[in-house]
Amino acid sequence: MSSPTPAGAPLAPRIGFVSLGCPKALTDSELILTQLRAEGYETSKSFAGADLVIVNTCGFIDDAVKESLDTIGEALAENGRVIVTGCLGAKTVGGAGDEASANLVRQIHPKVLAVTGPHATQEVMDAVHLHVPKPHDPFVDLVPAHGIKLTPRHYAYLKISEGCNHRCSFCIIPSMRGDLVSRPIGDVLNEARSLFESGVKELLVISQDTSAYGVDVKYRTGFWDGRPVRTRMTELVEKLGELAEPHGAWVRLHYVYPYPHVDEILPFMASGRILPYLDVPFQHSHPDVLKRMKRPASGERNLERLQRWREACPQIVVRSTFIAGFPGETEAEFEHLLDFMREARIDRAGCFAYSPVSGATANGLPGALPTEVREARRARFMAVAESVSSAKLADRVGAEMQVLIDHAPALGRKGGVGRSYADAPEIDGVVRLLPPQKASKTLKVGEFTRARIVAAEGHDLIGQPL
Ligand code: SF4
Repeated sequence: MSSPTPAGAPLAPRIGFVSLGCPKALTDSELILTQLRAEGYETSKSFAGADLVIVNTCGFIDDAVKESLDTIGEALAENGRVIVTGCLGAKTVGGAGDEASANLVRQIHPKVLAVTGPHATQEVMDAVHLHVPKPHDPFVDLVPAHGIKLTPRHYAYLKISEGCNHRCSFCIIPSMRGDLVSRPIGDVLNEARSLFESGVKELLVISQDTSAYGVDVKYRTGFWDGRPVRTRMTELVEKLGELAEPHGAWVRLHYVYPYPHVDEILPFMASGRILPYLDVPFQHSHPDVLKRMKRPASGERNLERLQRWREACPQIVVRSTFIAGFPGETEAEFEHLLDFMREARIDRAGCFAYSPVSGATANGLPGALPTEVREARRARFMAVAESVSSAKLADRVGAEMQVLIDHAPALGRKGGVGRSYADAPEIDGVVRLLPPQKASKTLKVGEFTRARIVAAEGHDLIGQPL
């Protein structure tokens, strides 16, 4: 526990925090850290120096489960007082609702103090209060209005909803996070405004299904700044574009499904209000595989839709993820996917070899493929994806692009690293910036620079700052 300072005032209790998992988990972590700070707790950089450790876990794929369990083990060994939250905390062994089912984390690490599921700031705080009582004087004034961000100050994730109404057969997120719950549009816009006002230059809109925003509340009309606004993706995106404009900031959309109403936001992209970038998790192209996956918008004609998007906004960059070797995938179905990739010319594509996630209904589908076939198909897919992506990157050589600077030691005298509108942080490539030619030109993290693209290398571009 905390020891007294020389002046006799007790030091604030220190909480260690580890945040694992996706951007959605990261925003949960930010909420918890903000609350801790608001109540006067300090954070500790080491397990050993903390009064208690919180581990925010991920439970999506088996590797993430292992990483989370290992981290909990380390925290227990080094500190001994551990609270677990996040997706893995909601996982049980034995079927859901089954009498014999038991919490997975508790079964493996029975010494943890408390376990909660995702999106459980209050439960986590209750557990913290129980084991490390609140300090007397909450330093509420020290908390910035926009909370504590774990991402660098110049970009931030904006979570617009929790949960998902779909039931994709390979996914267990709905069983962990529940059905879609959209945040009130006024709250979302207030948060966006305060982020821009605090210096955020890139806002990344996230959820499980961004295009479904507002479905759960029947697109109810909310209020913001005293004016009515519908809880709907098109209206949200329009307002975010308006909020970003005076700050010269970017708005980037993730996890958008190819529903017809997505066409409505293309004009905002074409006019530069929001970035012409769409992260659309297609997962496959063949209608039968999509049906077996129970994918949303599986009946849509995705190739035609993509072509229409490109006609409406020629500079649009599309990122997507795919699964190769899904149960029952025939060679012909896989070839269909390769043809789709060649024709659709997806700018940034990732591919997973299908891997069963415990608890997912796809595990019971007939026609499971051997690991070697799944891996070989993933490699064949990536060869096509990389040739498409390299050709697209090579086309940019000679162009001038706006680049947001992420890293620039010594004011960029030796160059730096940034991203163009085509690169989302952490998942896409970067623009490696050469040292500026003019002695007066500096590069600063969180600022924009124009750059002439002089070469393409792997997933990245090389740019000369102008
Ligand atoms: S859309 Fe499908 S993959 Fe995405 S969270 Fe919902 S169920 Fe899972």
